[in-house]
Amino acid sequence: MSNMFSLEGKIALVTGASYGIGFAIACAMSDAGATIVFNDIKQELVDKGITAYAEKGIKAHGYVCDVTDEAAVNALVAKIEEEVGVIDILVNNAGITRDMLAMRLSDEAWDAVIATNLTAAFVLTRAVLRPMMKARFGRIINMSSVVGSMGNAGQANYAAAKAGLIGMSKSVAQEVASRGITVNCIAPGFIDTDMTRALAESDREKLAERIPARRLGQTDDIAGAVLYLASDLAAYVTGAVLPVNGGLFMG
Ligand code: NAP
Repeated sequence: MSNMFSLEGKIALVTGASYGIGFAIACAMSDAGATIVFNDIKQELVDKGITAYAEKGIKAHGYVCDVTDEAAVNALVAKIEEEVGVIDILVNNAGITRDMLAMRLSDEAWDAVIATNLTAAFVLTRAVLRPMMKARFGRIINMSSVVGSMGNAGQANYAAAKAGLIGMSKSVAQEVASRGITVNCIAPGFIDTDMTRALAESDREKLAERIPARRLGQTDDIAGAVLYLASDLAAYVTGAVLPVNGGLFMG
């Protein structure tokens, strides 16, 4: 039997993948044979990413692109098609938090989080759909979060964006399922990255106590789930939300 996890010959774009969860996802997909393309906001982060991938023996194609800049996103997709090839797998991973209790949450913090976590994912999805339709193949994987279903005090903006991704994914999934394109979400719980390292150590410990698995997740826990959804094994899985949260939330 051929390896059904193989991504040989596939081109994968992972946004915001110089480090953190995106980096782990890209490494796993490269191990499975995919060509890796990633972007980040700043040149220095792209350079750092390229070096980090090279240290793992991966020749990744890195581009500078702010995913909240629609013109830049469309230009990025065109450039990737020209320089690397048609994108088969899109992982909308770039994300930010601007936490604040709702009463004090500024318009700016609301807009920034919606723009990066939700609108950018839609703009990228729209940009890759046409070539995927033509190819009769595509995998779109959106990085939602457990807080999209659970809510989280201090994260009204982030939870709204992550819940929005789920509705968006389910809708697009229905539109393109007949063309061999799947659209799914991963809903990570609390994962050990810079995003959660920003929390105080005592808060991280309290978080771990609430998780049945008694630990924060590792980036590889998420990479495994993405690999599955990107593979042929998940060809009939679309509009799904795959929780990867150590049992924190099962709703
Ligand atoms: P991270 O370490 O902060 O990495 C996010 C990446 O996205 C960074 O490389 C960041 O670049 C990039 N990025 C942010 N804004 C961007 C923009 N406008 N254009 C291009 N790139 C941009 O986060 P992470 O923990 O790996 O999280 C990855 C994804 O998983 C996010 O969508 C996050 O919401 C989601 N998630 C994380 C957790 C968790 O516990 N860590 C849980 C659930 C969901 P800069 O460094 O330049 O900002």
